Amino acid sequence: MQYHLDFNFCSIPLLALLFLLYKRKKKLSLYQNTLYSAIIIAALFSSAFDIANVVASRHMDSLPFWLVNFTSYGYFISHNSIPFFYSLYTCALIHNNVFGDSKVLKSLLLLPYLVQLLVILTNPFTKAVFYYDSFGYHRGFFQLPLYAICFYYAGFGAVYCSLFKDVLLKNLRFSLYSFMVICLSASLLQLFHPEYLIENFTITFCLLLIYLSLQRPEDFIHDHTGALNDNAFYKSFLINAKTRRQDRILFLCIEELSVLIHTFTSEKIYHLLSAVTTKLEQASRQTVYYLDNGSFAIMYKERAPFATEDLLKKINHAFESSFSIDSSHIDLDFRTLTLSLPKHGPDLETVYLYLHYLQELDNSRHWALSADEISIFDRARKQQIESAMKWAIDNDGFEIYYQPIYSTGKNSITSAEALIRLRTEELGFIPPDEFIPLAEKNGMILKIGHIVFEKVFRFMSENSLNQKGIEYIEINLSMVQCMQEGLSEEVISLMNKYHIDGKHVNLEITETAAANSPKMLIQNMTRLSGHGITFSLDDFGTGYSNITSLLNLPLSIVKFDKSMIDMAANDDTGKMILDSSTAMIKQMNLNIVAEGIETMLQKEDLVQSGIDYLQGYFFSRPVPGPEFLKFVEEFNQI
Ligand code: C2E
Ligand code: CA
Ligand code: CA
Repeated sequence: MQYHLDFNFCSIPLLALLFLLYKRKKKLSLYQNTLYSAIIIAALFSSAFDIANVVASRHMDSLPFWLVNFTSYGYFISHNSIPFFYSLYTCALIHNNVFGDSKVLKSLLLLPYLVQLLVILTNPFTKAVFYYDSFGYHRGFFQLPLYAICFYYAGFGAVYCSLFKDVLLKNLRFSLYSFMVICLSASLLQLFHPEYLIENFTITFCLLLIYLSLQRPEDFIHDHTGALNDNAFYKSFLINAKTRRQDRILFLCIEELSVLIHTFTSEKIYHLLSAVTTKLEQASRQTVYYLDNGSFAIMYKERAPFATEDLLKKINHAFESSFSIDSSHIDLDFRTLTLSLPKHGPDLETVYLYLHYLQELDNSRHWALSADEISIFDRARKQQIESAMKWAIDNDGFEIYYQPIYSTGKNSITSAEALIRLRTEELGFIPPDEFIPLAEKNGMILKIGHIVFEKVFRFMSENSLNQKGIEYIEINLSMVQCMQEGLSEEVISLMNKYHIDGKHVNLEITETAAANSPKMLIQNMTRLSGHGITFSLDDFGTGYSNITSLLNLPLSIVKFDKSMIDMAANDDTGKMILDSSTAMIKQMNLNIVAEGIETMLQKEDLVQSGIDYLQGYFFSRPVPGPEFLKFVEEFNQI
């Protein structure tokens, strides 16, 4: 038979070139890369042995028999390894792991190959694959099954590829399918026309196709640390969501990074991060992802109880020794958070919410948390509320409600507390208890406070409250506002703008503000008092400060918190506390407002106790301005 060797002659230089190109490319140390190289090498050997075998067969008479045989065995072993490597390569592309933990997958992949190897290696005795006689080379009875095994592997790769199609790039998928179709067609052709030795050439062609459509491996590596990057984390997460190979994610954030960034050049910081990556990889023996801002992730399987504890111990142990930058020795601490999959990671957004939660914890201790202990949904809601506040600031979205305050001496409504309201289409009503603390943290409270003053003063200027028996309106001041140097100027200029007399304004400050910011607070209070404004101490009975420490503040009213009123209604001790506090405050010549009056009985008891003002649902809930005016007109019978 006249064999056509030209195809193999073309394959060899192409494969050699491909091998060199691929080797030079910067890559991750991933199985897929090793396997791709293995296929190229197998194809190179296969082509070379194919040529050698044909040449040797032609000169059988003059060559030693073992040499002819050797070329045949070399060809069969290298050639038949290609489909096996190809299917492993497909698995590795998907899982970054050849067999994973699946015994079934392992046997499906390994068994046919082992059978095939066994048959080839025992061929000298069985002549199952090929044999030589005086007429030359002959195919053995096992050649067809050998083809079947090749087809099996090609089919395996294709099925696997389509099962996990969304984790593979479209181009790459196309190349993998093409690999199968082109190589199988070539095999069929060669099966029926053995003289056309085109199999190796088509394999070469397909390897080239894969090379061109491969994702650039450097896309997965973080530039400065050498760890896998967030892109790789994203891909691994998606793959894992399908395969469920890993069931834990460990996030680690370097505590001191923000300080270090201010101390060292970025080059030094990257150097440090790269050293940290290596140390983490060594301690965990896992793939480490760097997700920016000093945060790392490790995805792993908890194979035994306490595996996570062991992992954390190993990492802590590894980080006991310090790193050196310049001549300084730096000890690094991590805060950690472990997530169970899929419970805490139904999708990547949720996983990142956990990471952000961890990143934003304060430095009060070395947090080592498990996701079961925390609720990131708090965080999601926080973000929603922050956007709602921003929206309300920009779009006049805040409203002010007024809650009437009843004077026991005059038996009429003589004042009201202004309470802010925020309602959005998306979130509905958002209680001020929830958004004010957030606004205090992110600074929005200053704008919000300004809006409240403006709205209340406008309301006061547009309605002759005084004629309705309303002597003043109480406005809540947050601690952050109290600490502003410009607070008094702001209030005074707004009062001028709306022609408000200070005696109609009462500002409520909380005990915490009073205890924490005396200097600036006293300055502000003194200036504002000079304009006739009075002050209330809000939420009395909830803090820990000594009432006498508040004596030097220019207060006119103390507001008893609802909890104190409820306690007095419930037991004798509560009643005693209320009575003694009342006596003490009266002695200081201050008035008292009792908050949270809900029943007639409470009202009567408190009137008895000599409390000056009462506020609560019993009289009215906080209501919009017009409703408040109506209520006051009716109540005060004007
Ligand atoms: P606060 O200053 O102690 O306001 C009194 C709270 O008690 C109000 O809640 C009011 O609706 C509620 N309340 C009044 N009577 C009763 C009652 O009989 N029973 C019950 N269960 N509750 C009653 P609201 O309006 O939700 O305000 C909550 C807190 O938000 C306020 O507590 C205050 O600390 C803050 N806040 C409200 N408006 C403003 C504002 O304009 N600026 C600042 N800085 N804080 C505000
Ligand atoms: Ca208040
Ligand atoms: Ca209060």
